[in-house]
Amino acid sequence: MQIRENFSLKPYSTFGIDVNAKYFSTFHSVDELKEILNSPFSNLHSQLILGGGSNILFTKDVDGLVLKNEIKGIEIISEDNEFIYVKTGAGVNWHEFVLYCIRNGYAGVENLSLIPGNVGASPMQNIGAYGVEVKDVFHQLEAYHINEKTLRPFSLSECEFGYRESVFKRKYKNEFVITSVSFGLNKTPVFNTSYGAIQQELDKMGVKELTIQAISQAIISIRSSKLPDWKEVGNAGSFFKNPQIHQHEFHELKRIYPGIVGFPFKSEHTKLAAGWLIEQCGWKGYKKGDAGCYEKQALVLVNYGKATGKEIFDLSEDIIQSVKNKFGVILEREVNIL
Ligand SMILES: Cc1cc2nc3c(=O)[nH]c(=O)nc-3n(C[C@H](O)[C@H](O)[C@H](O)COP(=O)(O)OP(=O)(O)OC[C@H]3O[C@@H](n4cnc5c(N)ncnc54)[C@H](O)[C@@H]3O)c2cc1C
Repeated sequence: MQIRENFSLKPYSTFGIDVNAKYFSTFHSVDELKEILNSPFSNLHSQLILGGGSNILFTKDVDGLVLKNEIKGIEIISEDNEFIYVKTGAGVNWHEFVLYCIRNGYAGVENLSLIPGNVGASPMQNIGAYGVEVKDVFHQLEAYHINEKTLRPFSLSECEFGYRESVFKRKYKNEFVITSVSFGLNKTPVFNTSYGAIQQELDKMGVKELTIQAISQAIISIRSSKLPDWKEVGNAGSFFKNPQIHQHEFHELKRIYPGIVGFPFKSEHTKLAAGWLIEQCGWKGYKKGDAGCYEKQALVLVNYGKATGKEIFDLSEDIIQSVKNKFGVILEREVNIL
C-alpha cells in the first residue's frame, strides 16, 4: 500500500478545486481495501472514499486519508428469460459501464448515458436522468463495513432508495465502502422516450427504428448541448435537488407565478424545477470571480478556473437564501460538501 502525503485533489474532482489531502491512496480489490483499512495507519486517520469526484465540493483541505476506489471488472453472474445480471466493480466508470451494456444489447441504463463518476457511487444518491433511476435496474450491491470489517450484501429494499437518496447518505453515512454493484438488465428493451426532449432529438437524428443505441446517442447529444463539459469548466452537474412541496402549496405559488414549473410527484406532492426558481431570482449567468451560475442551466454552479470551494459554497448559500425569500421554498444541495 502506497500512501502519498499532501496530495493535490485538483485532478480528482470535476469541480477542479485546488485542495490537498493529507494522505492519499488507491485500492484495486476488496483485499487491498481491507489491508488499508485494517492497518494501524488507517486507524489513526479519518477516511474519505473517493470515486470520480463528480458529486463533491471540497471547501478545504482534507485532514485525513482519501481512498480512491479503483476496483474494476464487469462479469455476468446469471440470467433468466427476461434479465441478464451483471456484477460491476465499484471503480468502473459509469458511462463505460453504460457503453458496455449498449454494445451487448443489455437494456435499462441507456437513459443514464454520460453521467460522470463511478459505478460504486451510483447507488449512493440513486443517480437518475431522463425518467430513469439506478433503482430501476438495481439488483444488489456488496459493501464493506469500515468498523465491523465485514463485507455484506444489500438488496433493493435495504438500500432504501429515494429521489437522490439512499441508506448510504442517511442511516449508514460514512459507514460502508461499496465494492461492487449488480444490475438486472433487460434482454428485451422497454424504451423510455417520454421524458424531456428525447423524442425530439430522435426525430432530429432521423431515427426510424428505436434502439438502445439511438436513445443513448440522443441523450449524449442533449446532455452535451445543455451541460458544461467539466474537463473545461469545473462543475458537479445539478448543484441542488428539485424541491418537493405539497400540492396545495404548489397551487398557491402557481396563482402568484403562473409560469412556475412543477411535476406531480408521489401522492399529493409536486416536484418543482429548481433551475426555474433560481433563474427567476436572477442568478442564471451570474459570475463573481471564478465562481458562477451556468448561463445555460441555472441549476449548475461552475468554477471558471480558480474559484475556491468556499466561494462556490457561499454562492450556493446566497442562492438558497434568495429562493427562500422570493418563493418560500428551501433548496437542498445535491452535491456533497466537504
Ligand atoms: C456534468 C455532470 C453531470 C451530472 N449529471 C448527473 C445526472 O444526470 N444525474 C445524477 O444523478 N447525477 C449527476 N451528476 C452527479 C454525479 O455524476 C453522480 O452523483 C455520480 O454518481 C457521482 O459519482 P462519483 O464516483 O464521482 O462519486 P464521488 O463524487 O467521488 O463521491 C460522491 C459521494 O459518494 C461517496 N462514495 C463514492 N464512492 C463510494 C463507494 N464506493 N463507497 C462508499 N461511498 C462512496 C463519496 O465519499 C461521496 O460522499 C453529474 C455530475 C456532473 C459533473
